[in-house]
Amino acid sequence: MAKDTIWALEIPIFGVPMKNNIEIAGKQFEIYISGDEIQNRIKLTADAINTDYKGKTPLFISVLNGAFMFTSDLLKQIDLPCEVHFVKLSSYEGTSSTGDVKQLVGLNVDLKNREVIILEDIVDTGLTMSMLLKQIQALEPNSVAICSLLVKPEALQEKVAVTYCCFEIPEKFVIGYGLDLDGLGRNLPHIYQIK
Ligand code: IMP
Repeated sequence: MAKDTIWALEIPIFGVPMKNNIEIAGKQFEIYISGDEIQNRIKLTADAINTDYKGKTPLFISVLNGAFMFTSDLLKQIDLPCEVHFVKLSSYEGTSSTGDVKQLVGLNVDLKNREVIILEDIVDTGLTMSMLLKQIQALEPNSVAICSLLVKPEALQEKVAVTYCCFEIPEKFVIGYGLDLDGLGRNLPHIYQIK
């Protein structure tokens, strides 16, 4: 490797020191899941997908904005030929669900007879996922699985079967690793829980 490349400087990827307590948009948060724990669980999830989809070419649908970091890290561990597409759909404002689910945008691929895996940051009430699932199933894929970084089982209002879940968490608002509070906090490499 050339000496003058940035890698020769040996800058750690997660070089940002981990803060135990942070303030975002005037609210106090404490560390909940470290970036290392997230990566370990993502590796296990990717291993399960690699096994379950052996010999297949899954099509991942990543739900923006929240799933962008999860998608990036998970896909790097997927050892299969695969496609990834991005859609938008969200029901959140502030720190509680509005229940006002928006329309799906950005899906311009033929799903007929494909093995679809939806990548989501968090399943909270399940309203978003249930609506997304209906729209995706209408496009006649061969199979649909849900892979969510986080699930809040106590908050579920809609019955949603999550095939791959990295962490089940209590019904408390979290930010970081793609999840935001009014647009802030997505860049944090760790997950923080509201105090
Ligand atoms: P649901 O429709 O209530 O399941 O909410 C799904 C969406 O709400 C997720 O994709 C997130 O964008 C957002 N959301 C739910 N819970 C949280 C949270 O604790 N922190 C940040 N965003 C959340």
